[in-house]
Amino acid sequence: MSRLVMKFGGTSVADIERIRNVARHVKREVDAGHEAAVVVSAMAGTTNQLVDWCREAAVLHDAREYDTVVATGEQITSGLLAIALQDMGVTARSWQGWQIPIVTSDAHGAARILDINGEELVRRFNDRHEVAVISGFQGIYPETGRLTTLGRGGSDTSAVAIAAAIGADRCDIYTDVDGVYTTDPRVVARAGRLDKIAFEEMLELASLGAKVLQVRSVELGLVHNVRIFVRSSFDEPDRIDPHGTPPGTLICNEEEIVEQQVVTGIAFSKDEAQISIRSVADKPGVAAAIFGPLAEAGINVDMIVQNVSADGATTDLTFTVPAADYQRAESVLASAKNAIGYAKLDGASDIAKVSVIGIGMRSHAGVAARAFRALAERGINIRAITTSEIKFSILIDAAYTELAVRTLHSLYGLDR
Ligand code: ADP
Ligand code: ASP
Ligand code: MG
Repeated sequence: MSRLVMKFGGTSVADIERIRNVARHVKREVDAGHEAAVVVSAMAGTTNQLVDWCREAAVLHDAREYDTVVATGEQITSGLLAIALQDMGVTARSWQGWQIPIVTSDAHGAARILDINGEELVRRFNDRHEVAVISGFQGIYPETGRLTTLGRGGSDTSAVAIAAAIGADRCDIYTDVDGVYTTDPRVVARAGRLDKIAFEEMLELASLGAKVLQVRSVELGLVHNVRIFVRSSFDEPDRIDPHGTPPGTLICNEEEIVEQQVVTGIAFSKDEAQISIRSVADKPGVAAAIFGPLAEAGINVDMIVQNVSADGATTDLTFTVPAADYQRAESVLASAKNAIGYAKLDGASDIAKVSVIGIGMRSHAGVAARAFRALAERGINIRAITTSEIKFSILIDAAYTELAVRTLHSLYGLDR
């Protein structure tokens, strides 16, 4: 007997028929003698609709009320799945974040899980063989008693956190693809499924644009050593052998991966904007004068590139921000112009970041150089480059994203 967390994303619970299908997946595990805590997302499109309604009501709105609104999507699915399970003769009840409780910080809209008391769920596994159907994405900030949400894609994080809290043997993330691929399979048809990927690599993939798992869920998996298995919810539940190994991807420790490739995967993100500050004084305190006000405005800065000054007096500084924050970042910098001291601001918002990830890069030189040559041959101009131990990222015009990703995917031998 195993204790499992089973998480189902939005497309997997998009309508009542699919919810019934999810219930059959759960019943399959219960019939095989396993204990199950099921975490569900809102039905596909629901959270987007709720977010739009908040914006329509007021562009600038109270983040606590935003959470009150967007947390409702998951409440619907947890109730519906509990009903579907009961209808199949499976003992089940729904749980909202505040009922367990899933205690979070007060960072409304992007709260972090601080604590989950899993005792009652476990007691009910033992006493009643009851399946817990839990609303993902939501929690409670106990000091004010207000609902919180974990940021888009946050149900993955709920699932891994619950797996850690109840000491689950595995956390299965059921989604609309049958695993983690070498790159987004919707963009590159020749992408291949990875049997295993190391936590560190998955962290990079997720934070650099692959939305298959929320970054925080991978962090929690790493810290609490939760075995995360990404698999498809569209597989026919009755055809799966509950004791066999279904198709999917295991996120695991590096040591468990026998055949390590140099490059494991490619991620990309089109929602980037680039800002260049021309002729800023090359002296101590300037970077603080630039990035301080941006941080205060809550704007996330990434990929900072500063040139070595040619004349010893001034230099250029380039960095990226999320495209959605581009105009705000420009106006923050314009207001701080006197304090910073620069000649002019340049920028572009139709920029993409393409990143190549692989633990093997630690021990192989020249991996990035090959990419620069291949992209040059395709006439793709690179605006900026950053590297770290197990990845490098390039900034290019967004129009070339697919071409660049396909080129690199073939270059590193990832084509299926
Ligand atoms: P869910 O609603 O189940 O949480 P998401 O839409 O959040 O599902 O994540 C699954 C999607 O992630 C897939 O449909 C796929 O298009 C996308 N994706 C991006 N990069 C990858 C990748 N490397 N491997 C698998 N899926 C990826
Ligand atoms: N429903 C939330 C979202 O769409 C959380 C999730 O699906 O993981 O972002
Ligand atoms: Mg998701």
